[in-house]
Amino acid sequence: MWRDDNDDIEKLWRQFIIKSNRFPCVCPICGKISAHVYLHRFKENKGSAWMWCSECKNCSHGTMIIPTWWCDDNFIDLSKTASHPDYLESKKESIDNYVNGILDNI
Ligand SMILES: [Zn+2]
Repeated sequence: MWRDDNDDIEKLWRQFIIKSNRFPCVCPICGKISAHVYLHRFKENKGSAWMWCSECKNCSHGTMIIPTWWCDDNFIDLSKTASHPDYLESKKESIDNYVNGILDNI
């Protein structure tokens, strides 16, 4: 179902870092407004990040340098996350609202 072999989805991360998007945003692969980013800090500047598109199902997950302005949420159960974003997809509205709230307040 999910595809993780197209690195173009990682353009979402660069757009996220420069705060140029609100979510959902335009998918760099299929062009639909259905792309999401979620991240969680593990310690200091290191954390885990997911980027995915609900339409074309391209996704990426990896360890990233987490921006200093990022604050972790308290509504995602990290024990339910995995490499592919099935659980995150089920929470995408809450995630998008949370991410947009941070981006609008920095
Ligand atoms: Zn897409």
